[in-house]
Amino acid sequence: MSVDTAAAVAERFKELYGAEPEGVWAAPGRVNLIGEHTDYNDGFVMPFALPHTAVAAVSRRTDGVLRLHSADIDGDAGGVVELRVDDLAPESDRNWTAYPSGVVWALRQAGHAVTGADIHLASTVPAGAGLSSSAALEVVVALALNDLYDLGLKGWQLARLCQRAENVYVGAPVGIMDQTASACCEAGHALFLDTRDLSQKQIPFDLAAEGMRLLVVDTQVKHSHSEGEYGKRRAGCEKGAALLGVGALRDVAYDELDAALDRLGDDEEVRRLVRHIVTEDQRVEQVVALLESGDTRAIGPVLTAGHASLRDDFRISCPELDLVVDTALANGALGARMTGGGFGGSAIVLAEAADVETVTKSVEEAFAAAGFTAPRVFEAVPAAGARRVR
Ligand code: ADP
Ligand code: MG
Repeated sequence: MSVDTAAAVAERFKELYGAEPEGVWAAPGRVNLIGEHTDYNDGFVMPFALPHTAVAAVSRRTDGVLRLHSADIDGDAGGVVELRVDDLAPESDRNWTAYPSGVVWALRQAGHAVTGADIHLASTVPAGAGLSSSAALEVVVALALNDLYDLGLKGWQLARLCQRAENVYVGAPVGIMDQTASACCEAGHALFLDTRDLSQKQIPFDLAAEGMRLLVVDTQVKHSHSEGEYGKRRAGCEKGAALLGVGALRDVAYDELDAALDRLGDDEEVRRLVRHIVTEDQRVEQVVALLESGDTRAIGPVLTAGHASLRDDFRISCPELDLVVDTALANGALGARMTGGGFGGSAIVLAEAADVETVTKSVEEAFAAAGFTAPRVFEAVPAAGARRVR
């Protein structure tokens, strides 16, 4: 994020609220390299931060008023929304303001004396593209308030509060990956995260140094049924864990998978969900091992296997995502898979630097030939997690 962006956001804050902000903070969106839908099964994930960030200029208030403004609503013509922190209540707000207010609510619920704020924000994380614009929004607000109110909370603690804001206040049953990625990722690294205890390991992930690139292909598809389907998958995983007598599917070891599937009998739906989660956890561990041993190219087929599992077992892909993966692989990509919640959003493609142009062009042509909306393709380089920028 450039110094210019921070200055511009501070300037707009001053226009809106009549004074300089006390500070400016940034929090990134993310892509998930591997480990999909494992984060609500106590499993493993491996996201990294994007250079795209939500940037917030923030000042404290002592009068219980919370004022919110986003440059990205109605082309910056949306008004300032004014709320009272005492009035904040779960699921009372169906607008974008639920994300930042939910964070204030969660902090206050946890006993932190947040007495109000003026907030102006602007984000370069595309919303609804599976790149976690919502978590970026939550985390940037949480970090700003943590600093300004001197709360002393660590990144993982902020992530937990943001997840609670999204689960309870917004009413979206998301796992802990997105918020932790935004709060805790480091530039040049992917974050190996155990979502059971939030223990973390930063894994060096510098593809450019090895002559490779990672492309993000935003299909621009957002299926309206994704929320209900997400809830169904989550409920199915919980049913599988209950049937197997474990706390979470993470507790089913990979080499006990066949025995576990046998025990599930003819409940084909639950068997498929369980198979995805248990094999996906295994794929995360495989990718970590390959990266740590320097065998980076070998992660390609693991990513591709992850896509097949999401498509065939978890059943959350869509024709556009499958087309990205199939076309990229047919044109020399080392690996490719959908990333994020599914039913649209983005795919990632691992390719040799020399093949990037061919892969990109072939995907664009395939979309045109299929009559799909043109995808947005960009290169993702692991960027920094949330931080103060001014
Ligand atoms: P994702 O996190 O994959 O981008 P979500 O549906 O979880 O998708 O979150 C998108 C929502 O987050 C938007 O509908 C909007 O309410 C909110 N949002 C994201 N970015 C902004 C922004 N810059 N300004 C205001 N609201 C935003
Ligand atoms: Mg989100």
